[in-house]
Amino acid sequence: METTLVLVKPGGVSRRLNGEILRRIEARGLDIVGLKLLNPSREIVEEHYAEHRGKGFFDDVVNYLCSGSIVAVAVRGTNAVKAIRAMMGATNPLEATPGTVRGDFALTIDDNLTHSSSDPEAAERELALWFPEGLV
Ligand code: ATP
Ligand code: MG
Repeated sequence: METTLVLVKPGGVSRRLNGEILRRIEARGLDIVGLKLLNPSREIVEEHYAEHRGKGFFDDVVNYLCSGSIVAVAVRGTNAVKAIRAMMGATNPLEATPGTVRGDFALTIDDNLTHSSSDPEAAERELALWFPEGLV
């Protein structure tokens, strides 16, 4: 069993895609074990994307995450990290396969709708950051 983090970014929330994204996660057979809507602080978003600090897109991606409400989802299941990454699709929606969230609903890399943890170590770090109170 693995637990991973999904964030529905502000673009996904404003386009009312929360239900669609949660539906796909559950339809795949994965369990939602943490769920909240929040307006994240700049501090938590900068910590979340710390690996990208110094890159050209860092300020843009931090501003995007801070531009509205997001939904944080903890997802548990067999091979959940890899399964969720595949379901969300390639970082650049133009390269994302149809049938993925980004391939079906996004067009540009600066508004690619979701985040998902890249590996189990990242998932553990990110879950502690977004769900310090723990999971069910
Ligand atoms: P995420 O971490 O959001 O799930 P990812 O793991 O597919 O996305 P990362 O390489 O971690 O991709 O990049 C984090 C985010 O930064 C991307 O989702 C995207 O919004 C933005 N980003 C990444 N690369 C670029 C780029 N070359 N130009 C603009 N924005 C970028
Ligand atoms: Mg990433």
